[in-house]
Amino acid sequence: MPTMAEELEKTLQLCNKCGLCLAGCPIYKVTGIEWTSARGRVALLRSVFLDERLKLTDLKDPIFNCLTCNGCTEHCPPGVQTGDIIFRARQELLKQKGDSWIQRLLFQKMLPNPERLHKASRLLRLADVTGLHTLARKTGLTRLAGDAGKAEAMVPRVPAGEGLEAIKRAVKKIDKPGYSAAYFLGCYAPNFAPERAAATIRVLNKNRVEVTVPDFACCGLPAAGYGDMESARDLARKNIAIASKLKADAIVTPCASCSSFLKDYIKLLADDAEWAEKAKEFTGKVKDISEFLVDIGLNTEMGELKRKVTFHDPCHLAHYQKIKDQPRTILKSIPGIEFVEMNEADMCCGAAGSYAFKNYDLSQKVLERKMGNVAKTGADTLVSSCPACIMQLACGAGQQKLPISVLEIVDLLDEAYQNARGKD
Ligand code: SF4
Ligand code: SF4
Repeated sequence: MPTMAEELEKTLQLCNKCGLCLAGCPIYKVTGIEWTSARGRVALLRSVFLDERLKLTDLKDPIFNCLTCNGCTEHCPPGVQTGDIIFRARQELLKQKGDSWIQRLLFQKMLPNPERLHKASRLLRLADVTGLHTLARKTGLTRLAGDAGKAEAMVPRVPAGEGLEAIKRAVKKIDKPGYSAAYFLGCYAPNFAPERAAATIRVLNKNRVEVTVPDFACCGLPAAGYGDMESARDLARKNIAIASKLKADAIVTPCASCSSFLKDYIKLLADDAEWAEKAKEFTGKVKDISEFLVDIGLNTEMGELKRKVTFHDPCHLAHYQKIKDQPRTILKSIPGIEFVEMNEADMCCGAAGSYAFKNYDLSQKVLERKMGNVAKTGADTLVSSCPACIMQLACGAGQQKLPISVLEIVDLLDEAYQNARGKD
């Protein structure tokens, strides 16, 4: 089996320097700087791994200001996976430099434990309701934290109530189910958007899908994004062990980042003799919600929604999973919706997980470009299918004062199914 270095060498050698990737790189589009494009980043990494002229520690910016969106790969004739290469470079850098205590706390203590994460979100809520949060902002205290302090304003408020309990209350037995699904909640839904999670369950029920909500942990993508593959593997094993006790036909999530990374467990655990086969079985069941609903035959008994809608493709849906048609098929199936395609719909919005927390200004520039394209559509509703994109786009709409609702596909479906009931 080739070593990581050998594999990396092979991938880096694929680049023929044609430059076609420049057209698909959101960072290059806003900077115009060669080293921020895939061609530039690949050239720099060749200097480290092939020519040994540079040290990896010299390349922190090229390694960490890539969105790993894979927009470049869509344009690259030999199919260089720059996002993948960057992930590997981060992994190598972590080996050389070690991780910070914050990363250890987050990836090894918090994310594997939904209960701890929930307690942390309650603390955030406390800071909100006591006014501490507002005070920290007004006094400029948050700005002292640099990019993370600026990006903090993008994090939505934690709603009142016990999110996870509310979600579990939405789970019901349904008559004559056609399918069963284990809902992979992810970290965001129970802490920030329990109402949307309840809507997801209602939408699945309307499609004859009986839903369970197992206590899955984080998918592992945030840890992998920082190069901590060991934490990501531990989370993968934990989730696979939970799934192995279930009898669900599918593991479904409306979060494109989660579905994309869950499908990657097969690669992540390929060298683990004990888990490789189990990972294969697990991965075979993972479905993004739009993929799943179209596969099983979408229930189109819906009421009318008078909306002009455009869609932003999350990178983890369009570029990683190649799912582009299904969300559009669903949106166009809703009666009354006028669908309008946006220019550069599949170009990253600048969210990329926690990218803004380290690269706030670049993230904002990418977002401005995206919101310019949104505005040109004249849509009154912007839809996407990933919590990170929704958070970023909602922030962009607010900053530019666009009169537009920013929603997930499940929000619209839920509304359309509720309207159908009103019609009866
Ligand atoms: S992964 Fe995205 S940000 Fe990184 S080089 Fe490719 S297109 Fe640019
Ligand atoms: S398109 Fe692909 S092969 Fe061409 S320069 Fe970019 S990364 Fe290299």
